Amino acid sequence: MAQQNALKKALAGLAMIAGVTATFNVNAADEVNIYSDRQAFLLKPILDAFTKETGVKVNIVYAKKGIIQRLKSEGRNSPADLLLTSNVSNLNRAVDAGVTQAVNDSVVNGNVPAQYRDPNGHWFGLTTRARVIYASKDRVKEGEVTRYEDLADPKFKGRICTRPGDHTYNIALLASMIAEYGEADAKAWLEGVKANLARKPQGNDRAQVKAVKEGVCDIAVGNSYYYGKMLENEEQRAWAESVNLIYPNQADRGTHVNISGMTLTESSPNREDAIKLMRFLTESTAQKIYAEQNFEYPVKPGVEASKLIDHWGEFKADKVSLAEVDKYRKRAAMMVNEVGYNR
Ligand code: FE
Repeated sequence: MAQQNALKKALAGLAMIAGVTATFNVNAADEVNIYSDRQAFLLKPILDAFTKETGVKVNIVYAKKGIIQRLKSEGRNSPADLLLTSNVSNLNRAVDAGVTQAVNDSVVNGNVPAQYRDPNGHWFGLTTRARVIYASKDRVKEGEVTRYEDLADPKFKGRICTRPGDHTYNIALLASMIAEYGEADAKAWLEGVKANLARKPQGNDRAQVKAVKEGVCDIAVGNSYYYGKMLENEEQRAWAESVNLIYPNQADRGTHVNISGMTLTESSPNREDAIKLMRFLTESTAQKIYAEQNFEYPVKPGVEASKLIDHWGEFKADKVSLAEVDKYRKRAAMMVNEVGYNR
């Protein structure tokens, strides 16, 4: 009883963070509980379809921050079955925190390509997003910038904008450069990019595209789904329309991508149903809907991206496994400091 009260308290706390009211029925039959730092609206249509098909009810708690810490402090009493989060670094952080367990399921493994899942089965990608280059339509000629490597070319001195170098998205891109080139060359590249910056790194990805629109710089780096988000936003549409979206490195190794993904919690009270949901999320129908909600790409091969994304053209993604890239995460973070990228 005391345990249940503690749990209720913990959940009330979470619900407050999330700004939603959530009631979980711990160990209730035919329910799955999700903790997510992805907004609930992205999932709602898919979860409804899952419930309709299986009779399994799904509860979702959304919290922008602190979800892994929450799982850790709840420990064995956590009602959560699945954690949904973005970026391989967050998924690996959950693994490092000891709040995940391995899943070896032939359906899930069959749907998610090996490069987008943990070799030990602790996490699985659901969607991919590309880290792209946004170049001014007016001031950057077609073909002038086609590779990440170009961003370090002195011809772009004073013409590039990025968000701070220690943000997860930039750390992952730098980690992929280390995986490709080794530390010394990746560092030289980062120094080159820094030397080309138009201003001290600041703001989020969209703020960089805005800066291109306003003439502060000519080239920005950002995630691909923001293009869709900006086009959908009345105020931001002009920012998106001022740039060309360029998928870097199409003639060689391919564009750096990251994932949003899922992991089964160590303490999952509804393990069987949770694995059912994991399977469902990797199947074609859910893949299509989930990816479309946030202008992302399905991980399952052969599932089409949304119409809007299709307009941006097909692209080739870097084949390196994200588990491999993430091994350089810490080194990349140190490198950002070493070159004083944010100064
Ligand atoms: Fe984002």
